[in-house]
Amino acid sequence: MSCLIPVLVPTPAHSSVAGALTYRSEFALAPGTLVRVPLGRREVLGVVWEATDAPGYSGDMDAIRPVASVLDGLAPLSPAWRELVGFAASYYQRAAGEVALAALPPQLRDLSTVQLARRLRRAPVDTGTAATDAMHLIAATPEQTGALAEFNANSGPFLLFGATGSGKTEVYLRAAAALLAREPEAQALVMVPEINLTPQLEARFIARFGAQGVVSLHSGMTPAQRLRSWLAAHAGQARIVLGTRMAVFASMPRCRLIVVDEEHDPSYKQQEGARYSARDLAVYRARLEGAKVLLASATPSLESWHQSRAAAAASGAPADAGGRYQRLLMPSRVGDASLPRVRLVDMNHQPARAVIAPPLLEAISSRVARGEQALVFLNRRGYAPVLHCADCGWKSECPNCSAFRVFHKTDRTLRCHHCGFTERVPRACPACGNTDIGPLGRGTQRLEEHLGELLAGVLRPDGEPVRIGRIDADSTRAAGALASQLAQVHAGEVDVLVGTQMIAKGHDFRRVTLVAAVNPDTALFSSDFRAPERLFSLMMQAGGRAGRDATLAAQSPGGSEMWIQTLHPQHPLFAALRAHDYPAFAQRELHERLQAGLPPFSFQALVRAEARTQEVAQAFLNAASAAASGDAGELGALAARVTLYPAVPMTVQRVANVERAQMLVECASRPALQRFLSAWQALLHDTRAQPAHRGLIRWAIDVDPLQI
Ligand code: ADP
Ligand code: ZN
Ligand code: ZN
Repeated sequence: MSCLIPVLVPTPAHSSVAGALTYRSEFALAPGTLVRVPLGRREVLGVVWEATDAPGYSGDMDAIRPVASVLDGLAPLSPAWRELVGFAASYYQRAAGEVALAALPPQLRDLSTVQLARRLRRAPVDTGTAATDAMHLIAATPEQTGALAEFNANSGPFLLFGATGSGKTEVYLRAAAALLAREPEAQALVMVPEINLTPQLEARFIARFGAQGVVSLHSGMTPAQRLRSWLAAHAGQARIVLGTRMAVFASMPRCRLIVVDEEHDPSYKQQEGARYSARDLAVYRARLEGAKVLLASATPSLESWHQSRAAAAASGAPADAGGRYQRLLMPSRVGDASLPRVRLVDMNHQPARAVIAPPLLEAISSRVARGEQALVFLNRRGYAPVLHCADCGWKSECPNCSAFRVFHKTDRTLRCHHCGFTERVPRACPACGNTDIGPLGRGTQRLEEHLGELLAGVLRPDGEPVRIGRIDADSTRAAGALASQLAQVHAGEVDVLVGTQMIAKGHDFRRVTLVAAVNPDTALFSSDFRAPERLFSLMMQAGGRAGRDATLAAQSPGGSEMWIQTLHPQHPLFAALRAHDYPAFAQRELHERLQAGLPPFSFQALVRAEARTQEVAQAFLNAASAAASGDAGELGALAARVTLYPAVPMTVQRVANVERAQMLVECASRPALQRFLSAWQALLHDTRAQPAHRGLIRWAIDVDPLQI
């Protein structure tokens, strides 16, 4: 007597197989069990799934292929984990098999049952008790104490609105410590936006809890390391799991606390495959697991901010019951450190073509002379964004993309940041032969070079010449490069650090007293409605790197400062920034979003399509849209509740010779949008199968897109 077993397998992203495949087995297998099954000619990893109520199979049992083997050294994945995967798949409109398998460590897919058994035997067996080292305890600040008291007394979800340097990490540590002390088997999941922030956090957690019970999960680890961490979390040995967005899917049998640090950070949104928001899934997962969830930021996403608003019964307006999240406040920095003074430099009144305004240069020079550090950031890597011929107007366009290739001076290449196409810099203009071709605009490499010239002759207190460093995606390509560069900054070996937003986030630089944004203006007038929100948080985060050491900042004659060079000093965003007033900024933005019917007051999805020509890509989207609207049945009724905009080219319309178009779908109700998308899926598949759309390369849905 054989049993029928539903198994999720890695379904190709664009097949329309959304559910489990059926296999047979001599004995029953519990849902969540990991198995290896044949798929086509291969044997793949699969997850036994819930049996649906489909009518019993009456056909030939022998036609169904058997489960090849069972990974029986592993406990089945928990019901909460399976529900999370099922929810993520349906919410983000992907196949459950794709989401489930992507959520497992890659090495698990490759190991045979025998190899895995060997790994499991080798895994360290410790009791998992976290050794709390009382020596490391410091007294909590009154604000930390207050936030923790509210956290302990309520069920959440919580939004911790804490200034940069207010000691949010200490709150995570204490919340985790209390939990682990209370429940001997409880686990905590702590997420950070960037890999390069995990080592710092890991060090603090290990210092507090000991190395035994703390594991990390992020894409910078080797497959073997990731598997080891994953197994420790899955077995419940790891009490604390630290990781980037992928960690939201970590299998944890007793997850009782989830922390999302810098919850506003765009990198919590996966940008390929199932485009999930790890922050949003964290909130959902907490509910499934009966865990508390703490989102934290100095500049929360407007979604979370709005979701944590207080109830209001405005006269005349309909009463607002308030948001679902509870807001916790930590407005001050630890140890009397004040937030940096924000200075706006009106570039309209500076010498023409000045890259660094003279007063800013002066300020940097005197900081260096006093032994303090300055951080100068510019959100553009490379030497210059364009190479250009003044004679004929030639520009270094990418032949494959609707974008310019960036000039990288260190290796004298023109590099496309979209498709990667790289060529040696031509000796002469490819169009007219003029040998006098030059850079246009400025990236971090050129800024570093320029600062070197401007600061030549400035000496450190030890009499040595100023040292300038640079951190960006180019300088940190080699493994370990970033860690060693950051270590140099912490050790005071660099006086002026130039970089992209990589240096603006999270780092606890103790000797930085001045931070400068060279050219943040472009974001003020972007067509993306989220650009001001991103700019504001980036500026606050960057400013947050200055003056973290109260004693040092107090000794410095200039205190700590954040300089912003702009042609639009009157812009209200800067007024709020100057006052460190995120609530004022948020209120103004939310008001505009409400007027315009934008998120969080509406819900969006994008359908993207790629083809050799823009016409083919757009025609597919428009056809699928028209068919939905024209449907006489349920789909048509659902379509009537959403707004389907016409297809348009994406901002970077062509990448690697592929034309890209998108269609925005908007709705005031999240469930209504969800129902429409689920119903529309089949029609999108059908439309794609029509001969008229044969030229389409691929399409995909992005729910709650961050970039429009
Ligand atoms: P945030 O994440 O809020 O920007 P951090 O958690 O990095 O801030 O804390 C900023 C600094 O303050 C760190 O150097 C940290 O060690 C220190 N700190 C945090 N809490 C306390 C405390 N209660 N007493 C003394 N120092 C603290
Ligand atoms: Zn030319
Ligand atoms: Zn390109």
